[in-house]
Amino acid sequence: MISRRGVLGAGAALAAAQAQTGGKTIAVASSNGLRACARAVEIMKQGGDTLDAVVAGVNIQEDDPEDDSVGYGGLPNEEGVVELDASLMHGPTRRAGSVASLRGIRYPSKIAKLVMEQTDHVMLVGEGALRFAKAYGFREENLLTEKSRLAWMVWKRSLRDASGHNNWTDGVDAPPAEKAVAELKRAFPDVSEELLAYAWDRAMYPPTGTINCLGLNAKGEISGVTTTSGLAWKIPGRVGDSPIIGAGVFVDPDVGAAGSTGRGEENIRIAGAHTVVENMRHGMSPQEACLDAMKRISKNYGNDRKRMEKFDINFYALRKDGAYAGASLWSGTRRPGQTPPRRKFTVNDGGQSRYEDCAFLYER
Ligand code: ASP
Repeated sequence: MISRRGVLGAGAALAAAQAQTGGKTIAVASSNGLRACARAVEIMKQGGDTLDAVVAGVNIQEDDPEDDSVGYGGLPNEEGVVELDASLMHGPTRRAGSVASLRGIRYPSKIAKLVMEQTDHVMLVGEGALRFAKAYGFREENLLTEKSRLAWMVWKRSLRDASGHNNWTDGVDAPPAEKAVAELKRAFPDVSEELLAYAWDRAMYPPTGTINCLGLNAKGEISGVTTTSGLAWKIPGRVGDSPIIGAGVFVDPDVGAAGSTGRGEENIRIAGAHTVVENMRHGMSPQEACLDAMKRISKNYGNDRKRMEKFDINFYALRKDGAYAGASLWSGTRRPGQTPPRRKFTVNDGGQSRYEDCAFLYER
């Protein structure tokens, strides 16, 4: 039986938490998170758990073959096999779960949640993670779509030794880059030029993607998740930051949550999401916290911008009181001959999801 005092105590705690968040329900995500944020906020507003909400949000991207950085249709490793990573943290219970190098299951975030809820472990990888998922009734399937298979084939054909040779093409007489799409049209006559242009772009500029989604409800409860197919064309078994608790995502219910997308190798070296949350604990605003983490990455390169030009990395932060930010190393993405579009992140605090500009360390 709950005593009157107990009820009053819980009521006072709830009122205090609502005062902190302004009673707001908020989801913050990477730039591919418009739908994820909308779904997460909808679920939280209906009283759903914050982790259930953000996982349901990112499941939309995991399911979507058009998002080639997450789940089904994610770009594969160098052998053409899709390998997925995910991690999550549940603020209210201070628990965590993670999977890495998971093949054949399109919802790594759901498996990470099961690891958290149904095992005495935090992280499962590879074959063990797959067997665990199957034990829970998940269906193994080929996650490579025709589109991502084509991008992988084009990447394989683009590799060259010093004499210009590649066993996967006609070799030494291969045309220069600007004629690439025309040459590909000969190799893949049934494929549209639009699709070949996409595949060539992906092969030349292996994209970063991933989705991170952080959710805060009106009671002040907070959770976060990150899910990815990782770096395109990676060495099989390569694990990035996304499934690493404290790098891809970190939640401390006393402070807030943070997550990351972009080149995972850089994030792992500074334990980025944990760093951002610790920065907020020590009084930095979400934006200052993210930019400080970015400065640590920059310092690992002696602040040499030339060396950092080849990669992108982003942090997202949501503080327990509802303040939030997104920040990136560079103001925009590098594509020769194009003005880089300004980096964005996604927010929903009720109503429609919207983009906001990321703060950035360096202009590009
Ligand atoms: N962070 C992911 C990884 O390194 C990739 C990405 O965000 O693009 O695996």
